[in-house]
This record gives sequence, structure tokens and C-alpha cells, in this order.
Amino acid sequence: MGKVWFVGAGPGDPDLITVKGRNMVSKAGAILYAGSLVSEAALRWAPLGCEIADSKDMTLEEITDWLVAKARVHELVVRLQTGDPSLYGALIEMARPLDGAGVEIGVVPGVSSAMASAAAAVESLTLPEVTQTVILTRVEGRTPMPEGESLEALARHQCTLCLFLSVGLLGKVREDLLAAGWREDAPVLVVQKASWPGEEKILRGTLGDIRERCRAEKIRSQAMIIVSPTLGARSWPSMKKSKLYDSSFTHRFRLGRKPGGSD
Ligand code: SAH
Repeated sequence: MGKVWFVGAGPGDPDLITVKGRNMVSKAGAILYAGSLVSEAALRWAPLGCEIADSKDMTLEEITDWLVAKARVHELVVRLQTGDPSLYGALIEMARPLDGAGVEIGVVPGVSSAMASAAAAVESLTLPEVTQTVILTRVEGRTPMPEGESLEALARHQCTLCLFLSVGLLGKVREDLLAAGWREDAPVLVVQKASWPGEEKILRGTLGDIRERCRAEKIRSQAMIIVSPTLGARSWPSMKKSKLYDSSFTHRFRLGRKPGGSD
């Protein structure tokens, strides 16, 4: 019996798969990738003769049956997942039937689209004395949100919010954030196909106008919404600096200077 590796393919740019993930792909006997969101280019490292299939038309059961069947004939089977497998990737739903069939599994983490979107726009999701917290969540769609995790409740923290699977629900995002005390002119970033060569779109707007902007650009899917008090800090007139680089701050690698002193 072979082993099934769930590999994070990264957000789209084939260069953003990890070295470990690429090594897995290059040794795989069979690869099942996750439809449109995983760039097929990630398969460019698949070895000759590797069995490759797209799971976009498969049910969960068909996916796990495929993985079990291939693990019976190949030593290494790869399930390529978009971004990082631990986020909205049905990892546990797939892992349980594999456990039941006695198939060993492993996970290789990936670069999530939340990180790739921040990178695309050169934004920091944390900023000293502005926010030190990031919430990765989604708006309620067909999957109901657990108790206490409504967007309105989470948004009351006024920290950074990365919203997956929600670009079709920007009206609700606005409503919930306004109810949580955000302002109509709060900055919002939407990145579609972050890191995809030649296809990435970066849109900036406010809670009030981002829905219209997305509509004008025909952005309806494959997009990350970031709402954060840190957005745009690059062009603020002034900001607090991270203590880590402050000359009076002592840490493991450097002795701080006394404030006002010369060394
Ligand atoms: N595991 C993935 C998320 C899968 S859920 C990850 O870690 O990124 C699918 C959602 O992820 C999409 O609706 C979209 O919100 C986001 N997404 C995936 N790839 C993206 C990309 N390249 N750019 C922007 N958003 C992306």
C-alpha cells in the first residue's frame, strides 16, 4: 500500500509550490488535482507516465475511491490542493475514508491565497499598535457558520479580516461590517487570482464602493477580500515602527541602546 500526500500547490503561480511539494509531485505515480483553482502548471513537474486526473467533476466519495485505488498500485500518490490544504480544502473529509481504508497519509503545507494576496498588494496584515491579529474566515453561504462566528461578531475585533469564498457576497460583507462599527470609507482590498502569471487583478476601494468596483471588473470568483486597518499604511504620513527594529529594544540578537544615548 502506498502513501497519499495532500500537497499545497500554492495560490496559482507554479513557483509558489514548496520545494518539498514539488519533490512529491516529481516522484508521484498518480496525481489528482483540484480543478480550476490549482494551476495545471504545477503539474509540469510530474514524471513521465504519471497518472493525472482533475477532480472537478468528482464527488468526495469518487475522490477518495480514486486515491485509495491508486495507493494500491503506486508508492506515492499526490492530491494537489489549492493554497494550503488546511484551509477550506475538505482535508478531514478526505482523510477519514483513507484512514478507514488503511492508507497512510501526509500533508505538505502550501502558500495560502491570503498570504499571496497581501504580497500582491504589498500590504502587511499586522502593524504595531494598529492590529496584531488576523482572522481567516468567510461569509455564511451554503455552509452555515458555527455559533459566535458571524462576520458581524468577528468584525467587532477591528483587526485584519481575510475573507475566503465571499466575493459574491460583498453586499453582506458591507452590512455586517457596518453593523460591527466599521466605517463606510474603511479601506478594502480585493485580489483575484493572486500570483497567477498575467491574470492577477488587484482592486482597492472602500466598504462603500468595493462591490461596484468588483462588478465593473467582473470579479465574481477566485478572489480574496482583505479588510484591515493596516491597508494603505505605506503611504500614511507617519506610523509606529515595530519594536523589533527600534534602537532601544533589546532582543536575542542585539543589545538595545538607552533612549537618548549614543550607543
Ligand atoms: N486552501 C485555499 C483556499 C481554498 S477556498 C488557500 O489556502 O488559499 C477557495 C477560496 O480561496 C476562493 O474562493 C478565494 O477566496 C480563495 N483563493 C484561492 N486561490 C486564490 C487566488 N489565487 N487569489 C485570490 N483568492 C484565492
